[in-house]
Amino acid sequence: MIIFDDMRTDHIYIHYPFCVKKCPYCDFYSVEEKDPDIRKKYIGYIHKEIDIYEKYFSDEIKTVYFGGGTPSLTEPDEIRDLLGRFRTGGDAEVTLEVNPAAADFGKLKAFIEAGVTRFSVGSQSFINAELRTLGRIHGAKDIYAVYEAARKAGCGNINLDLITGIPGSTPAGALYSASELCRLGPEHVSVYILTYYEGTPYTSLLSSGSLKKLDDDVEIELFSLSAGVLAQHGYHRYEISNFSKPGLESRHNLNTWDFGNYIGLGSSAHSFLEKYRLENPDSIKEYFAKVDSGKTGIIPENLIDEIGLKNEFLILGLRKTGGLDVNAYKDRFGSEISADFSGKINTCLNSEVLKLNKDKLVLNEMKFDIFNSIVSDLIL
Ligand code: SF4
Repeated sequence: MIIFDDMRTDHIYIHYPFCVKKCPYCDFYSVEEKDPDIRKKYIGYIHKEIDIYEKYFSDEIKTVYFGGGTPSLTEPDEIRDLLGRFRTGGDAEVTLEVNPAAADFGKLKAFIEAGVTRFSVGSQSFINAELRTLGRIHGAKDIYAVYEAARKAGCGNINLDLITGIPGSTPAGALYSASELCRLGPEHVSVYILTYYEGTPYTSLLSSGSLKKLDDDVEIELFSLSAGVLAQHGYHRYEISNFSKPGLESRHNLNTWDFGNYIGLGSSAHSFLEKYRLENPDSIKEYFAKVDSGKTGIIPENLIDEIGLKNEFLILGLRKTGGLDVNAYKDRFGSEISADFSGKINTCLNSEVLKLNKDKLVLNEMKFDIFNSIVSDLIL
């Protein structure tokens, strides 16, 4: 039952849940599916889901993000046909995630011809031993090859991912990976400390003692070393985990942190429309059934209450180094953020955990390491 017709989004996420091999640390929904017919059928269901949501798409889609899973396993024609379903402006940001071992020059070029403008490469580390620990299917040489192929194919906007805090990592290793990455010179970099998600093979390996997690303070140190190298090479940190050359921030991700609407298509994809958050099933079979039944869309059960929305606005806004826009908060909720958060914000301002920079509420960057504990104290 769709009950609101006047919401629109400029931003689309499409989840492609197939990988060559599941990495043991990964908690994204993805499966090792070899059958091309199932993969083809899945794309067909994305088209069916687009039919359901079409009325919410704006006349000028600004970003489309193909995430996964491994979207570089799709056929470029499939990407072209999907992009053909949206009215995109001339400067739309169209990102496709690439596994270094699952794309070559011909394919990357065809993706660009299909409308992709940005590749996000899951490089993770430039040290083969670390890549093996992560269970990645690629080695360091594949990163250099795919990066060169992407440039040769004409891509002018590349993100490279780095994971720090991998068991066995050292300060020298963190410096090496960050330096190699900077030597390549992508426009954008995402750096994450390795997370041990409940239910992944990594947590079992940890419990059995087969894998030894680094101490928290070592993980933070390795992250800081990587961030330092990026800063020396002109990357500015605009979000806890994201760095870019000036003006080349990910517009897709910024929309999420700015509390903008987006629609997620495909299994496990999430959507956010004004005050509704939707979540597709973490199962391809259930996703097919949900789309077939038409039981998707804006339904009362997906409504987030006012307090939940205010908390989300705060959490997402403080992730950005530029801070949370207090005027946007007031426009949205009709109240002052400092009043709503019952004096907690003033306490943080007094202790310099937060600062007010014109109309932006900014979290002290030195406190990013303890972001979760700060926001959990702040929220309503
Ligand atoms: S390739 Fe990416 S999505 Fe696939 S299992 Fe590995 S980390 Fe997860």
